[in-house]
Amino acid sequence: MKGLEGRPVHIAGAGILGLATAHELAKAGARVTLFDCRDDGASASAVAAGMLAPAFEACLDPVSRPHYRLFREARDLWPDFAVETGIDLVRSGANYRGSEADAVAAGLEALGAPSDRRPDFVFTAEDWRVDPGQALPALRKALDSARVRTTQQRLEVPDPAVQTVVATGWKSHEWAPETAFLTTIKGHILTIPGVYRGDVVERTRGGYVCPSAAGLRLGATMEAGKSDLKVDLMVAGALFDRLAPPSILADQSARIVQVGIRAATADGLPMVGPSARSGVWLAVGARRNGWLLAPLVARMTAAYLAGDDPGPWSQALHPGRFEGSTGE
Ligand SMILES: Cc1cc2nc3c(=O)[nH]c(=O)nc-3n(C[C@H](O)[C@H](O)[C@H](O)COP(=O)(O)OP(=O)(O)OC[C@H]3O[C@@H](n4cnc5c(N)ncnc54)[C@H](O)[C@@H]3O)c2cc1C
Repeated sequence: MKGLEGRPVHIAGAGILGLATAHELAKAGARVTLFDCRDDGASASAVAAGMLAPAFEACLDPVSRPHYRLFREARDLWPDFAVETGIDLVRSGANYRGSEADAVAAGLEALGAPSDRRPDFVFTAEDWRVDPGQALPALRKALDSARVRTTQQRLEVPDPAVQTVVATGWKSHEWAPETAFLTTIKGHILTIPGVYRGDVVERTRGGYVCPSAAGLRLGATMEAGKSDLKVDLMVAGALFDRLAPPSILADQSARIVQVGIRAATADGLPMVGPSARSGVWLAVGARRNGWLLAPLVARMTAAYLAGDDPGPWSQALHPGRFEGSTGE
């Protein structure tokens, strides 16, 4: 990417999309400044489960169903991205358990996602995962080594003399008018500290149980239209009752409840590419698959800024695709 050598670029937001984009731009020789304002604790990336799950996401989430091929291609960028950044990539697959397992197996087959129907569950090796608790510090360390300058400040307004990438999650800004089309989906997720159950993600109706170094993670709610970070203990209790393995007793187990806000678009895909405002580029709106999509978003953004071909998904992800529809 010759067009980036020595060029200054600002990135607003240090969630997974901003961090991955900073990595890709620094690799191409850009002089990156990352505006990392975590003062409101609003990063969805830090609370996410970290599943890289093209198969079960496309199979179980109707909004994601058309996007299996894109999701898979994004996932396939992960092995190189993980090696470059020191992120531990776990390729142990995922199970689905429950009375709908036959329908889920049929759904995976219809997508063309390889799976294995076993007596009590359906297994797919297509879905991988990372642990955000390990991945975020690893990425920050990689960025330090790549001399990315990080400032603990909010970017208030882009400097018109510097190309600026907007990776600010669900926040909307007048200076990036496309962000008016983002909607919010609040999510509760629980961690049961110190409990470990193998390596495989377990899916079931209404959620998942995901291993992590911190303990079992049970998630996650999809509360459309909400953007407050308040923990609702009723919602968290229902999540626990629905998903906790039977041996984990409700009255005896400690649990940590966290909330994150996902930014979403009407078609479930992020906005990646040029804003109508000159010099501004979007990398937002990855809904419930920001970790999965991050290396793709980063690579496309770097290609745009270098003046290279952003690849086959540029139309599908173009920020201008909602123009003419009503923003919310
Ligand atoms: C409970 C839950 C579970 C999830 N599980 C998964 C999963 O298993 N797999 C998966 O792929 N995805 C998952 N997701 C979705 C994923 O977390 C998001 O898609 C992803 O984290 C979005 O990353 P982001 O960088 O766009 O935004 P964020 O992580 O929200 O980061 C944006 C950052 O920008 C900062 N910011 C805002 N305005 C400014 C400004 N003006 N200047 C500087 N900084 C600013 C914010 O403070 C924030 O730190 C989950 C989400 C939730 C809530």
